[in-house]
Formats: sequence, C-alpha cells, structure tokens
Amino acid sequence: MSKVVLRVLQVIGVLVLAGIAVSVVVGLLQWVLGLAIIVAIPVGGYWLYKQVKGRQSPQIPSSAVGALPKGATDRRTELESRAVMDASGRCGWCGSPSLHKDEYGFPTTPLRYHRAEIDAML
Ligand SMILES: [Zn+2]
Repeated sequence: MSKVVLRVLQVIGVLVLAGIAVSVVVGLLQWVLGLAIIVAIPVGGYWLYKQVKGRQSPQIPSSAVGALPKGATDRRTELESRAVMDASGRCGWCGSPSLHKDEYGFPTTPLRYHRAEIDAML
C-alpha cells in the first residue's frame, strides 16, 4: 500500500470515529430531553393546579367586602376578573406574555401582581 492510501484510510477512520461520537452525544441529548419532558409534565401540572386554586380562593376576607358599598364590590369583582391569565397564557390585565414574578422572583398570579394597581383604580 502506498502512503497516500494509508493517509486516506486514516482520514476515513477519524471521520467514522467522529460520526460515532456525534451520534452518541445526540442520543444522550435526546435522552436528557426526554427525561426533562417527563419531569416537566407533573411539575407543570402541579403549577397549573396551584394557579387555578389560587384564582378560586378569594384574596379579600368576606368581612372586608361586606363593609364596602355594593357598587364598590361590583367594581372590585369586575377589575379582578380582568387580572387573570387568558387562554393563551397572557396576563389579562397588562397583556404581558411572560409570567409575573413576585419580589422573590417566584411566579405569581396576575391578580396578586397587579393588586396595588387594582386597589388604586377602586
Ligand atoms: Zn400583568
């Protein structure tokens, strides 16, 4: 065999090894991605459940509402009903496409985030 043929075989060998390495890395990435999705589904479900639960439980004690005149209660209910997540996940109050965060950086409900603005409009 001539030197040129040896050199060509060497290059082919390196390419094959590189191909195997790339496929292993891609396979590993797919595996990690699959695992991430499996973990994300229950965590996301739990988060959604918390959001829905937080929306259902009223933020104001009933005694405070009872003290307000009827009109003010209606206005509060009307404003608060706007400060919820719409179907596309946007904030119904300000239209922000991303989740609102509280002062600690945790995701919070639009109602809680815009509480001061809602109170100011009453
Ligand atoms: Zn908002």
